[in-house]
Amino acid sequence: MCQVESKKSENEFREALAEILALSVKRIFASELSGPRERRDLSEHGFSCDFELSRPLVPEDLPPIELEMKRQLKSSGIPDDCFKLMNVAGAYWNGDENENMLQRIYVAAFSSSEDLKLYLDGIEEAEKRDHRKLGRDMKLFFFHETAPGMPYWMPKGFALLNRLISWWREVHEREDYQEISSPIINAKKLWEISGHWDHYRDDMFIMKMSDDEVYGVKPMNCPNAMIMFNQGLHSYRDLPLRLSDCDVLHRHERSGALHGLLRVQKFQQDDAHIFVEDQSSAIESEFARILDLVDEFYSVFGLSYRFRIATRPKDSIGDDQLWERAEGALHSVLQQRVGDNYEIAQGDGAFYGPKIDIVIKDALGRDWQMGTLQLDYQLPRRFDCRYVDAKGQKECPVVIHRVIYGSMERFIGILIEHCGGAFPLWLAPEQLRILPVSDKHKARAEEIRQDLKRSGIRVAIDDDGSLGKKVKGFRIDKIPLGLVIGDQEVESGLVSVRERGSKESVVMNLSDLKKFLKNRIEAKR
Ligand SMILES: [Zn+2]
Repeated sequence: MCQVESKKSENEFREALAEILALSVKRIFASELSGPRERRDLSEHGFSCDFELSRPLVPEDLPPIELEMKRQLKSSGIPDDCFKLMNVAGAYWNGDENENMLQRIYVAAFSSSEDLKLYLDGIEEAEKRDHRKLGRDMKLFFFHETAPGMPYWMPKGFALLNRLISWWREVHEREDYQEISSPIINAKKLWEISGHWDHYRDDMFIMKMSDDEVYGVKPMNCPNAMIMFNQGLHSYRDLPLRLSDCDVLHRHERSGALHGLLRVQKFQQDDAHIFVEDQSSAIESEFARILDLVDEFYSVFGLSYRFRIATRPKDSIGDDQLWERAEGALHSVLQQRVGDNYEIAQGDGAFYGPKIDIVIKDALGRDWQMGTLQLDYQLPRRFDCRYVDAKGQKECPVVIHRVIYGSMERFIGILIEHCGGAFPLWLAPEQLRILPVSDKHKARAEEIRQDLKRSGIRVAIDDDGSLGKKVKGFRIDKIPLGLVIGDQEVESGLVSVRERGSKESVVMNLSDLKKFLKNRIEAKR
């Protein structure tokens, strides 16, 4: 069967099941139906139905409904093992808050029981990997009621964040980026010049110190990058000028929109603003360099990705001709790179320019929008940025805004779920754990810890309880490497090394262990 046909028959199957669900609900809740309205919606994994009932549904209502559905299905020829009632929720009629609340039932449904099982297994795995749960269990970060959506990084989480940033720094220095830092809050005037006051104010934290002293907390690094560029007059020989920046940013979100590290109010970006001459060859060759970087970063994490162009939004600044040029340049860049293999999101661009979004697929097959590359003719004009070109004329540069990780917080949230908390050795907050068999092996364990620590390894000792308990802790904490130190190791001066997930240990001397660690870390594995 071709894909379109199979999709069609899957939808027919779901519609038939929705009919059976409606019959079953009417039978079981005959006395509680408060109106005739009913709404059915198909989804990617099944469907949902809304009913008018005199009381809210609770999860305990689902098993009897499911039983009744199976009874009804007996005579229908439809298999009864291809669906599962997942959830209940209140839902306004047609999403209108002025309407009555209806009761919604979510159903997972597939035309084969194997597909249903795959879907349910995927959900179970995603729950196990939920970064909010792992973040708590692994002591990486937490939130406090006084700072909603603003993560507190605990030592292990901060080690992870710092490792990601220090690698970012290393690579960007190599690529001739220059890192800067600028104020976190600026007077309203800056945001008026940049256009954020008119187009982005609702998403900003605003501080009013007195009537004529109003500040905005920066939601983006861009305006301050323009201010930085304007210190001194640049020559065309200075361009492309690449200013990188990972300052802390704040964006005001509705409290309902917050979600662990994936949707936060305080975050850092691996940001950069590149000032380029307004020539298509210069712009395109800079984009090619950035896309090489994208490749370098994502391949380390085993993340596959695709591109999407986001075009001019309704609420935008600047004239049509510049927008057309900017969008044309992005198409040309991607055409050269991937042909027609990219998507278009109409009206999804930033208010000052179109962008290329990078959408990754994680280990569970889920899509996430991560990095973004924007081409901007507007901000450098608004800030009157100038350079002297080869003919001695003052010209306005074009700016490329780009992030590769995107928000560091969000990237870490996705990474935690992607690897289920089992971070690769080079990145792991605790790379190696030493497990002394008993108290008499502690002195040697401490010697080894000091030695490895001096070599730059993030190492800890677990000297609490029995060896069995320590090995279990080592497994639960997903530490990449473990060293067991017992009589033999103390006597021989060797160590026995066990890798995460392996049942066997390898015996080696300390200098070989250090070489092994160094190679692994350099190879980002
Ligand atoms: Zn920017």
